[in-house]
Amino acid sequence: MSSIFLPDIFAETVFDIDVDALKKSGIKAFIFDIDNTLATYAMPIADKKTADWIMELKDKGFGIFIVSNNNRERVRVFAENLNVRHFGKALKPLDIFLRKACRIMGVKPKETALVGDQLFTDIWGGNLIGMKTILVKPISDVEDGFVKFKRRFERRILSKMDKQR
Ligand SMILES: [Mg+2]
Repeated sequence: MSSIFLPDIFAETVFDIDVDALKKSGIKAFIFDIDNTLATYAMPIADKKTADWIMELKDKGFGIFIVSNNNRERVRVFAENLNVRHFGKALKPLDIFLRKACRIMGVKPKETALVGDQLFTDIWGGNLIGMKTILVKPISDVEDGFVKFKRRFERRILSKMDKQR
C-alpha cells in the first residue's frame, strides 16, 4: 500500500548520491527540491559546497531543474543564484510541473532522478510518473507545523519498511 511513498534510493545528503552509477543506469537529469534538501528553510541561497556540486553535475552533462512547493520568489532567488531553471508553487505531488520540467530538459520522467526530503510531496510525486526517486535526510529539523505533521506519518511508513528489510 505504501510503496508509492517509498523512494528507490536513500541518501544521507545530496553529496552521498552516486551520480556516476545513476548515469550508467540511464539517468540524464535531476529535479531537486530546495527546502531541507539543498538548503535549510532559512538559507536564501545555497552554500558553496552545494553550488560546486550542482556545477559538477552540469559538467557531467546532467540536466538540472528545481521544482519546489515554496513561493515563487524564494525559488527564483535560490535557483537563479545557481543558474538553474525552476518552478515555484509547484504543487507536488501533482505531476504537472515535474512533467513540464522534463519536457523543457528534453528527457523522459524515467530518465530523471527526483531528489527531495519529503515522502508525501517529493517522493510520491516522482513515483507517480515513474521517476527514479531519492530521499535525503532533512538538513535541519526547523520546519513549519504542517511539515512536522506530515513527518509523523512518514515515520510510520519508513519504520514499516525497515521491518520488511
Ligand atoms: Mg523539502
